[in-house]
Amino acid sequence: MKPLFSQETPTLFALSVPGRSALALPKLDIPETPLPHSLLREELSLPELDEVSVVRHFTQLSQKNYSIDGQCYPLGSCTMKYNPKVNEEAAQLRGFTRAHPLLPLSQAQGALKLMYQVQEALKNLTGFTGFSLQPAAGAQGELAGVLMIRAYHRDRGAIQRKRILVPDSAHGTNPATCTMAGFTVETIPSDPQGAVYLEALKAACAGKNAETLAGLMITNPGTLGLFEPAIQEILRIIHDAGGLVYGDGANFNALMGIIKPADLDFDVMHLNLHKSFSTPHGGGGPGAGAVGAGPRLVEYLPGPTITRQGDTYTFITPPRSIGRMKGFYGNFSVLVRAYTYIRLLGKEGIRRVAEYAVLNANYLRSLLKETYPTPFGADRPCMHEFVASPHLGNGITTLDIAKRLIDYGFHPPTIYFPLIVKEALMVEPTETESKETLDAFAAALITIAQEAKTQPELLKTAPHTTPVGRLDEVAAARKPVLRVRGC
Ligand SMILES: *Cc1c(COP(=O)(O)O)cnc(C)c1O
Repeated sequence: MKPLFSQETPTLFALSVPGRSALALPKLDIPETPLPHSLLREELSLPELDEVSVVRHFTQLSQKNYSIDGQCYPLGSCTMKYNPKVNEEAAQLRGFTRAHPLLPLSQAQGALKLMYQVQEALKNLTGFTGFSLQPAAGAQGELAGVLMIRAYHRDRGAIQRKRILVPDSAHGTNPATCTMAGFTVETIPSDPQGAVYLEALKAACAGKNAETLAGLMITNPGTLGLFEPAIQEILRIIHDAGGLVYGDGANFNALMGIIKPADLDFDVMHLNLHKSFSTPHGGGGPGAGAVGAGPRLVEYLPGPTITRQGDTYTFITPPRSIGRMKGFYGNFSVLVRAYTYIRLLGKEGIRRVAEYAVLNANYLRSLLKETYPTPFGADRPCMHEFVASPHLGNGITTLDIAKRLIDYGFHPPTIYFPLIVKEALMVEPTETESKETLDAFAAALITIAQEAKTQPELLKTAPHTTPVGRLDEVAAARKPVLRVRGC
């Protein structure tokens, strides 16, 4: 096995050689004056290094990070696809990076046109009537959408509509968003196939319950990676009870170019442009949770949005807008990347993304079905991801498997989510991984399953190839050590 990382990178202090420096000051051309003693510290320990050593040190440190440019990163629900480099070229064009958000409109026409075209492209892909590019992340897009639902009911005097139904497989942001917007969350269980339990949903919307129903927040495909078979019936039940439907479209990878959510009668949905439309993410970097709405909610979209009058682009705030979600106009550079990606692929290319994302997930699931079975929906195709529930014996947990995968050079999949799957291992290969990489990933997991039988200690103590081994995750969160001390 080829270790991915060198075991240890010495600290800058360990590399320090007295007298060495990466900096040469010009010859003094003024009289030399000693610094006032009060400004000087007696003991200030700083490493002394030449420039090459400093550059190598930090480059080596950066290579200890997993990245999509370095390794396969099958982190479920996160869509860690390859980010084409042409996106970065476009985002770095001076006309974009130097544009000030307070430019007069006449001087910002290029930027506005780009945003307008992103709105139009997203409308085409989803069938929605309008889009706002304001929200800076998926979770903020959710909040925008749920606030729109609240405003809609308030406008109709229906302030008693306070309940939002959320399936038990939902992403954690969904119930959090509803709570932040002042709604009460009612959990709808999943049936044994991993679909929404229809009888529970019907009961939550029946009789007097209909009067207090604000809506439903649902992810399709759900977090189990399965397409919701009764989606149209579910949406009809909610609408018949006077509720509205929020679709969590953070992961649009399985559907784009194939299904338009508005055709299914979703009222509002956010798309994570940083996931499905390829901006580097993770580590909390800038995102874009563009939010789209159908006829019932389009007037409530956060503003400003972009409109076109002849050849001129300008801002417009929808008539019943919930207002701004963010200063200025959203994370503009993410919009440039999404625009570039959409133009790069075109309509056919976007559809192929979805087809390959689904194909890759199903291929991988089939390679793993003996050792890493999928408890929900194993008898039907998955969408862009699948959730396995490994039980390898010998006390081996999913955490052990994930840690051991690091030794084989793979970023671990998402683990212990969704909560309804025991020992969940949530795998999303994305369309950008080759068959060879998928084969290698499956082979690593199968080897790990054998190791679980013969050498369980190897898994329990993994990872072995990283500079630090198994972390105490609780202590790391509660008492983080954020500084390297030289002496
Ligand atoms: C990633 C994700 C979110 C949250 O998106 P952020 O941009 O991280 O706020 C919400 N729902 C689902 C299903 C997701 O996968």
